[in-house]
Amino acid sequence: MAMVEEDVLPITIPEALDSLTKLIGDVNRKNRTMIDYYIYPKETPSEIEAYRPRLQVLFTRVESLSALDLPKLTLLVDDAAAFMSAFLLPIIDQLLNAVHGVQQIFINHYDRDLEDRKPYNGVYTTLEYRERQLKKFQADQMRNPQRRLPESLTPMPPNPTEPSFCRFAIAYMNHRDHGKLSQVMSEELSSDDKEKLRNSGGAYLSWDCPGCAFKLKYHVVSSMTSNIQLTDDVRSHSSVPEIEYRPAWLVKCHLYQPKSKNVKYSPAWDDRRESATDSRRGGTVRRQSDTRSHRTSNPFFFGGPRRSQSEVITNKYTTTHIRSKETYAKYGCPFCFVTGREHGHMDYRNGRELAEHIAARHHLGKPPSSLVLEKYMVGLNGRCADNVRRWDLNVR
Ligand SMILES: [Zn+2]
Ligand SMILES: [Zn+2]
Repeated sequence: MAMVEEDVLPITIPEALDSLTKLIGDVNRKNRTMIDYYIYPKETPSEIEAYRPRLQVLFTRVESLSALDLPKLTLLVDDAAAFMSAFLLPIIDQLLNAVHGVQQIFINHYDRDLEDRKPYNGVYTTLEYRERQLKKFQADQMRNPQRRLPESLTPMPPNPTEPSFCRFAIAYMNHRDHGKLSQVMSEELSSDDKEKLRNSGGAYLSWDCPGCAFKLKYHVVSSMTSNIQLTDDVRSHSSVPEIEYRPAWLVKCHLYQPKSKNVKYSPAWDDRRESATDSRRGGTVRRQSDTRSHRTSNPFFFGGPRRSQSEVITNKYTTTHIRSKETYAKYGCPFCFVTGREHGHMDYRNGRELAEHIAARHHLGKPPSSLVLEKYMVGLNGRCADNVRRWDLNVR
């Protein structure tokens, strides 16, 4: 016997988010009214008071999901809308639990009549209805014959007027690794790389993008971890101690690199050269705001120098030279991209610049939505989402 499809009105993700924000507010207000009526001026018992931070947590989660730009997310994440509902459904579930729990406390301890009057009934039934709508939405999304992989939505080569994540970076992030491997020639190893080989043994392999000129060397020591997804090669930079990452993070963030470019390995992997740059700066970390306005209007994509001469002169924090190599953008910030703020956040020349941006804009006090953290395998102080085995980027 065929299941009869439940008859619920369709809902969109923005509608669901708006409704949830409103419902959390309704629950909060209802709690206040009940406390004022039954408890005030006595002190609110802690078991009721505990609902306030719980609701705040749920509110923050909805808020961070609302900050995501769904069309942008769709360009990066498999089944973005369905994935978004997968994050909304547990929030609804926890809200239902909270509403049920708090109502039960008032019934048990304050007024038996509330059993029949059900003061939270309106919110409760609306939440249940939203849950059914979202489940249906999710199922419909997954059944949609027009479903396309996100990487197929980015043209190849991409629009040359604006930087864009490479198709294969997007595929990689969604666990489709099409990378080719090649050996790294001795002349491509920095002195630090060679020292690492002397100290730890192993070898350097190169992950080469099949769609563009991007390639990234990484260090392997054992057969078990010889894959770029498994390597123990963890990098950090002295200028940004709060960020550490594995090579996979850079693969996920790489922008399309035209093949005609004479691509060198990112200086992100060359600590010695970097610390020299740091000391020339007198240890001053460049401030984001200093270059932001210039970056926003920067018409260059891959070709031109990233900073104009006037920027170098006017910016007292970047009085160092413009490096002749690596003057084109290599990495973008996916966290900014998915919130629709990609302009000016798509032109990092190496892992260190990207790490500095992450530390300044997506630090522990202001992390991206848990959805993005899970997708990009990001750890906060080493802690990842339950189903993420280990981090590729760690913010501490
Ligand atoms: Zn690529
Ligand atoms: Zn960003």
